[in-house]
Amino acid sequence: MSATKIIHSVPSDPLTGAISVPVYQTSTFIQDAPGVNKGFDYARSNNPTRKVLEDLVAKLENGHAGFAFSTGLAAIDAVLKQLSSGDEILAVDDIYGGAYRLFTHVYEKLGISVNYVDTTDIDNVAQAVTSKTKLIWIESPTNPTLKVSDIEGISKIAKSIGAYLVVDNTFASPIAQNPIDLGADFVIHSGTKYIGGHSDLVAGLVVTKNQELSEKIKFIQNASGGVLGPWDCFLTIRGIETLDLRYRKQCENALKVALFLEQHEAVSEVFYPGLEGHKNHEIAKKQQNGLFGGVVSFSLKTDTQDAANEFVTSTEYFKLAESLGGVKSLLCHPAQMTHASIPREKRLQAGIKDSLIRLSCGIEEYQDLINDLANAFEKVQQGEFVNAI
Ligand SMILES: *Cc1c(COP(=O)(O)O)cnc(C)c1O
Repeated sequence: MSATKIIHSVPSDPLTGAISVPVYQTSTFIQDAPGVNKGFDYARSNNPTRKVLEDLVAKLENGHAGFAFSTGLAAIDAVLKQLSSGDEILAVDDIYGGAYRLFTHVYEKLGISVNYVDTTDIDNVAQAVTSKTKLIWIESPTNPTLKVSDIEGISKIAKSIGAYLVVDNTFASPIAQNPIDLGADFVIHSGTKYIGGHSDLVAGLVVTKNQELSEKIKFIQNASGGVLGPWDCFLTIRGIETLDLRYRKQCENALKVALFLEQHEAVSEVFYPGLEGHKNHEIAKKQQNGLFGGVVSFSLKTDTQDAANEFVTSTEYFKLAESLGGVKSLLCHPAQMTHASIPREKRLQAGIKDSLIRLSCGIEEYQDLINDLANAFEKVQQGEFVNAI
């Protein structure tokens, strides 16, 4: 969807002409007679500010309907609640840490098993599905090693066994990638990241492919109640108005940063789908509209947590914090932060080395970001020299 269409899909208020979306801070709506209302009855079930956001996100993802939740994990949870005991999930191995925790420590207890697979190779997916597989769950690109999976190819496997394909599209954002167009049944976003875009809220979104799936999510959203409040809906809508501009700038910065890291002597490997050496660069180019995202990860030649600790505390503009996608650049050390809930052995299997550092490029000038990283490398190298003495 073009920037023009996004901006003009945000409606002005039909009652007053207010150009921005009003925040309907209300819990209930007066009815003319029992059951006779203006489309809204109680704010858990629906709210006009939330409805604007939900309709907007459905449009952004070319889906049937959108649903706003209190966090990304609440959105993921709403999709998982369609499963029953005995069902299986086939999930990408480099999955978001919080999703891993929810799958493994909440849903496995309820009799739902999860098989983690390297989905970057489509044959692995074809081999791992069983008659019990109900959901195929991928992120593309993944967090933090930026693995890319062939969404269209995997959607065909899902269809052939009657499973749903869920794509967590947080990293690509709707600007780069629209999984429903590629055959996905559900799209998830952590609205906390690019969509909100200012590191000032937590939110989650689900977009569905068709009416049947919309009814299921609508039911769960109302039954479980993890909805996004009107003020945060307003902020998310405001974020979406600049999403195209921000995301493109972040992609540009990230590519420049990735190229800088690739030639730096202290770096052992760089993960970025925009690099030609990336395993699925060609697929990424095709399914992500030539945009590769704002996140770049890399490992140090000195592959220790200590070296990573020194680096992540030596930058000025890249602030040390969890999360990503905001206008301000952030960095983190997944092994101790976002992915601490995944056992070390499993982390290593998924390519998350002890020194792996994840950068989320903001919208600053790229030269300032590169200088910031160069300075941090220098500090770390000096530190090593001192330690050696
Ligand atoms: C952050 C994130 C989530 C979880 O979203 P919250 O808003 O933090 O609950 C899910 N998936 C991915 C890929 C994420 O980056």
